[in-house]
Amino acid sequence: MSSSRRDHFSASSLEPVPVVIIGNGPSGICLSYLLSGHIPYVRPDAVHPHPLLQRKLAEAPGVSILDQDLDYLSEGLEGRCQSPVALLFDALLRPDTDFGGNLESVLTWRQEKQRAIPHVVLGRNLPGGAWHSIEGSMVTLSQGQWMGLPDLQVKDWLQKKRRGLRNSRATAGDIARYYRDYVVKKGLSHNFISGAVVTSVQWGAPEPSVPGAPGPSPLFQVSGFLTTKDQSQRPFSLWTHNVVLATGTFDSPARLGIPGEDLPFVHHDLSALEAATRKGVVTPASDPVLIVGAGLSAADAVLFARHYNIPVVHAFRRPVDDPGLVFNQLPKMLYPEYHKVHQMMREQSFLSPSPYQGYRSLPEHRPLLFKEDSQAVFQDAQGGQQVFAVSLVLVLIGSHPDLSFLPGAGADLAMDPEQPLSAKRNPIDVDPFTYQSTRQEGLYAVGPLAGDNFVRFVQGGALAVASSLLRKETRKPP
Ligand SMILES: Cc1cc2nc3c(=O)[nH]c(=O)nc-3n(C[C@H](O)[C@H](O)[C@H](O)COP(=O)(O)OP(=O)(O)OC[C@H]3O[C@@H](n4cnc5c(N)ncnc54)[C@H](O)[C@@H]3O)c2cc1C
Repeated sequence: MSSSRRDHFSASSLEPVPVVIIGNGPSGICLSYLLSGHIPYVRPDAVHPHPLLQRKLAEAPGVSILDQDLDYLSEGLEGRCQSPVALLFDALLRPDTDFGGNLESVLTWRQEKQRAIPHVVLGRNLPGGAWHSIEGSMVTLSQGQWMGLPDLQVKDWLQKKRRGLRNSRATAGDIARYYRDYVVKKGLSHNFISGAVVTSVQWGAPEPSVPGAPGPSPLFQVSGFLTTKDQSQRPFSLWTHNVVLATGTFDSPARLGIPGEDLPFVHHDLSALEAATRKGVVTPASDPVLIVGAGLSAADAVLFARHYNIPVVHAFRRPVDDPGLVFNQLPKMLYPEYHKVHQMMREQSFLSPSPYQGYRSLPEHRPLLFKEDSQAVFQDAQGGQQVFAVSLVLVLIGSHPDLSFLPGAGADLAMDPEQPLSAKRNPIDVDPFTYQSTRQEGLYAVGPLAGDNFVRFVQGGALAVASSLLRKETRKPP
């Protein structure tokens, strides 16, 4: 980030910024790229393999995708995501990837500086979002090429860094570096303010307008604190006409809600195991680490612990062969490491000691409490109690979006305001072609908050927001 932007920012400004993006992960980065005047056009020589889409693209040659009707273009597209615009942008960037092909994107990018919309991207950490919190050696679930942002392929970036994909997947560390580098390479750094945490977003009812005149834009106040180089915290406050929520869903881990969960040896983040291993707090000779959960984060923790020969007790609520377990939905050929964990979960249950030394699984066990003397008490499927001495506990049972900075923690914005906000079951209710909240004008949501859970698909939300904001700009009186 340029120092002038940071200085201006920390002084807090009364002049409204047109757009404030909260969250600097792949969603926020992609949107910043588009708002910086990078405009996508279909290459004149490109032929899209989807015949209907090709026919529609050919109807408006030379018109940028951002200026076309996204509803019309995306109609009839199908794929691994519910959002039509996400499917559209993905199909333009990776035309035949779901058929195992490797066709080049049909898009070409032109920088049209006069169309750039000034914006600020606020983020707690470095640009890259959740990817800076994921253990760097973990391999992505998605193919490496699906982790890329517009106009910079991951494989080309890796090649320049003299690195490669692993069995067509990338490490989380490389992906975090790729996102950070993307911001620099694409000249976006001056928009990004890292170390800025938003603690409040407020808005009032717009003033009543003159009948017949366009309604006034709402005005939002975005406040928080900025951590400075000397680690002190300085408050800030910004005014803006548009707020984009791009805060992801990984900052607020789900909790068991049992006694002892706040004890110092109980954690909700894999990085705690890394830190404890690095410091020698847990070693191959320690009591086992207890890992609670049966999703991919828990599996990553098991793999990490085994890599360092740290003994593990692995407890989860469901039976091992429950079809709802994520392992049963992953192809074996592509994800051998996760299938290995699943096999261990099956073969090394508490009742049948077997080949995997230092690992013990507890299917259908519910944690009841953690005691100060580092004991974990469980209830088994028969209602009996089991007690284990542990060195550290990792509760990895998912996470929730944290919108505590919004009035009512954003509950009113969800599809079903009566239910808790959830990326998978109850995301923020947005218009599918603008990603603007259906409840509040000027408030947008992208990424998992809007129900798009993979990097490949979060970019469609950014396209929809950029298209909507560009339209608003052209409607403004001169
Ligand atoms: C372990 C793990 C593995 C994954 N593997 C894959 C994979 O293989 N493929 C794939 O496509 N996806 C994967 N995902 C999902 C992927 O991480 C998300 O889809 C993606 O990062 C979402 O991008 P985002 O920009 O919307 O949010 P995020 O990447 O979550 O970024 C949001 C950022 O906003 C910041 N923020 C939140 N609140 C505030 C605030 N109040 N003030 C300032 N900043 C704030 C957060 O700290 C965070 O850095 C994985 C996720 C995890 C946790």
